[in-house]
Amino acid sequence: MARVMITCPDTGRPIYTGMSFDEIIFENSQLPDKSVLCPACGQVHIWNKQDAYLESEDDAHQP
Ligand SMILES: [Zn+2]
Repeated sequence: MARVMITCPDTGRPIYTGMSFDEIIFENSQLPDKSVLCPACGQVHIWNKQDAYLESEDDAHQP
């Protein structure tokens, strides 16, 4: 599984959308527009698949 991330348009910081996908499933999925409450700037951002990128959860376990 990988976390679906977007970039906050106001702060440029990576934001976790709260969704996780297998990369193969994400690539083949059709996602409608989603909204996320941004922890970086406190606003709600609307995002879609084109805005999103995946961050492997395995990265968190590296030393
Ligand atoms: Zn934001």
